[in-house]
Amino acid sequence: MNQKALGPMDATPARSLRFLLCDTAGKVGGLSSSDEAWVSSPIQCLDKAVDAKPGLIVIRIGDMPFRERDTLVELSAALKRNPHTRNCPILALLHSMHRKLLEDLNRAGVGFVKFIGDCTLDSDQIRQIIDAMGPHDRLERYLETVCPFVHYRQIDSRHEMVSCGAYLDRMVLGGLRLHELCQTIGHLHCEYYLNPRRKS
Ligand code: SF4
Repeated sequence: MNQKALGPMDATPARSLRFLLCDTAGKVGGLSSSDEAWVSSPIQCLDKAVDAKPGLIVIRIGDMPFRERDTLVELSAALKRNPHTRNCPILALLHSMHRKLLEDLNRAGVGFVKFIGDCTLDSDQIRQIIDAMGPHDRLERYLETVCPFVHYRQIDSRHEMVSCGAYLDRMVLGGLRLHELCQTIGHLHCEYYLNPRRKS
C-alpha cells in the first residue's frame, strides 16, 4: 500500500496492526499474521479500531439485506466521527457497483472501494488487494463513473428495482445497458443523460 496515495493518516508513530478487517458475513478466511485482525461485528470493529489504531480499516459489504448494509455504512461514519479513528483510511470491499451505496459511503467518509463480487478471500488475497491500492481506487472516481440518473426502488429487504431517472423512472435498467452504459463513463454520451425527460 502506498501511504502517500491514501492521503493524511494518524500521526501515531507505531501501529500494532497493519489492517483491521470487518467481515460480518464470514466471507474471509483466517488471517495469518499478527499485524492483521479480523472482527465480525460493527461494535467489535469500533472497539478494536480505537484500541489498535490500525493503518487501514477494511469493511466488507457484500450482497446482504439493506438493513445490514446500512449498519456498515453507519459504522464507517462512526469511525470517521471518532477522534481516535477518524484519520484512519477506510477501504470498502463491495459486492458490485451501486450508485446509492457509493453516495452513502462517500457521505460517511469512506475513501476507497474495491469490487470483489461474492468470493471468499484469504489473508494473502486481502494483502494483495491492499498492496495494489492507489488513487484509482478512490471512491470519488467511481461516483464520476456511474450515471447519476441510476435510481433504486426497494422491493423487499434485499432486492430492488433499478430504473432511469432521466426517463421518468419508466425504464427499468439491467443487463447490458446497466453494466456497459449506465455504470461506465460512457453514460456521458447516453441520449437520456444528455436530454433528460421532464414531467409535463
Ligand atoms: S439510461 Fe442513460 S440516463 Fe438513464 S441511467 Fe442509464 S446512462 Fe443514465
